[in-house]
Amino acid sequence: MNEVKPPKKPLLYYYGIALLLLLLFQFLAMPMISQARIRTVDYNTFVSMVEEGNVGSAEIQEQENRILFTDKDNTAIYKTAMVPDSDLTQRLLDAGVSTNGVEVEQTSLLGDILSWVIPIAIFIALGQFMSRKMMDRMGGPNALSFGKSNAKVYVKSSEGIRFSDVAGEDEAKENLQEIVNYLHNPEKYREIGASMPKGILLVGPPGTGKTMLAKAVAGEANVPFFSMSGSEFVEMFVGMGASKVRDLFKQAKEKAPCIVFIDEIDAIGKKRDGQIGGNDEREQTLNQLLTEMDGFEGNTGVIILAATNRPESLDPALTRPGRFDRRVPVELPDLKGREEILRVHAKKIKVAEDVDFEKVARMASGASGAELANIVNEAALRAVRDGRRFATQADLEESIEVVIAGYQKKNAILTDQEKKIVAYHEIGHALVAARQSHSAPVQKITIVPRTSGALGYTMQVEEGNHYLMSQEEIENKIATYTGGRAAEEVVFGSVTTGASNDIEQATKLARAMITRYGMSKDFGMVAMETVTNQYLGGDASLSCSAETQARIDKAVVDLVGRQHEKALAILREDREKLDQLANYLYEKETITGEEFMAILNG
Ligand code: ADP
Repeated sequence: MNEVKPPKKPLLYYYGIALLLLLLFQFLAMPMISQARIRTVDYNTFVSMVEEGNVGSAEIQEQENRILFTDKDNTAIYKTAMVPDSDLTQRLLDAGVSTNGVEVEQTSLLGDILSWVIPIAIFIALGQFMSRKMMDRMGGPNALSFGKSNAKVYVKSSEGIRFSDVAGEDEAKENLQEIVNYLHNPEKYREIGASMPKGILLVGPPGTGKTMLAKAVAGEANVPFFSMSGSEFVEMFVGMGASKVRDLFKQAKEKAPCIVFIDEIDAIGKKRDGQIGGNDEREQTLNQLLTEMDGFEGNTGVIILAATNRPESLDPALTRPGRFDRRVPVELPDLKGREEILRVHAKKIKVAEDVDFEKVARMASGASGAELANIVNEAALRAVRDGRRFATQADLEESIEVVIAGYQKKNAILTDQEKKIVAYHEIGHALVAARQSHSAPVQKITIVPRTSGALGYTMQVEEGNHYLMSQEEIENKIATYTGGRAAEEVVFGSVTTGASNDIEQATKLARAMITRYGMSKDFGMVAMETVTNQYLGGDASLSCSAETQARIDKAVVDLVGRQHEKALAILREDREKLDQLANYLYEKETITGEEFMAILNG
């Protein structure tokens, strides 16, 4: 899809050019025009011409220290520098030369006209140009077109995004294919009396390809595509957003069949909570949107797609049947999806033939489509930096770490003791994970500091897709989180600040087990917590009495404590391997899963 966009240059740029032209004209061209036809002669010649009666008229320009004069037929103009000459006036009178200066004005008449007309012409042209630019910016036919939608319009184009460019997300594509079919052949649907959903809501975490899917629908259907972000509707003046909505729908109906895409619809579609001092502008905009969506028939050929990461915050009026009545989840890609996305993006760069995309996809578990695209690009950048002509497996693997943990900190200097502690900490995680049957094997362990602040980390790899987790698996995971701290305790008998992130994760999991998953005998299957932000970090809010909260807190402490004990026991039992592995990691700084397993089983 090609966006139709006027070229943009700062206005100052045009002003500058115009001013420069003007100055050039005034200082160079004008004197040249007016003086081109004036001949310069010396004073003696002037005097002799006066005496011989060859001068018609003269003008004495004392301030400029010159005399302009014409020949006796008033055809040629001459100029001469003034020399102190007390007889000059007498001489002119004697020769009957008129000194009214008419000729001089005549000579510069053209120049004068030009010097007035040209600047005015330039300013008129500039004014015209500027007002046209203003119009373009405001997206309408006159400069005062407030309330125009200024939606970005993408025209039909053969090289637009297609479904094949969106890897994975098969269910979402299947769902949207129906829209494409409808736009291709609305008759078929009208015949049977079926009407298309007016609005389709794409929901999912950021970077999973919602915008791409919307564009792909337009690309497949080969129809115009209006794109606007929810926040663009909300303006400083009340009523402006509503008028933008009206305008957007008016344009869309004119261009039907077409697709209107509203990104981040939660910016205008939030629940109207009726509180005093609520956002009037937003509510008006939303009301207008609701009215517009009711206002057109299902079969006009305008399909509204909207994307959001926060479906739970949308106003129920917006999601009721007849408006956004279809919801298409666009989830984080699974293993196969990740591999496909990597392959799609790898087509844009040069990669070595032996790259194992499945392994890369496995390592990048939990990454979104946008992150995977970023990983591939980072790999290409790394290849260029190292002077290779294509990206290798190592480039891809390193760039996963770059995207997850930041760049390697080249000059972070850890003391020897710190490095030892980090090595034990990381091996602690890995060893506890490996000794618990259900924990995923370790892919890689490194103690090279990263710019994110991580001093080292253990990358675990999930073998396949995981949809359900058993209680035991979660408990093991908590034990793995506590493994790092446990190793420090076992070996050094003291603890460091390095475990803060582990502690946070372990606590989060333990709390979720009790308050949301019903995995505690004391509380049973009662929801104590509700997730408020499913796609953006999964924050939850407690909904129980203060007393229960205290009991939950105690249960969380007990649960994490039990797993911590388990980790300590595992490490004490395996102390020999712990030392061996930690020393190896300390020496090598980065070890692979295979090396780890070889030493563990050796
Ligand atoms: P969202 O709108 O969900 O936040 P976008 O559609 O803007 O995400 O995706 C951002 C970028 O991520 C895209 O430009 C694309 O490069 C990449 N991407 C995301 N999902 C996919 C996918 N399924 N296939 C290919 N590329 C994807």
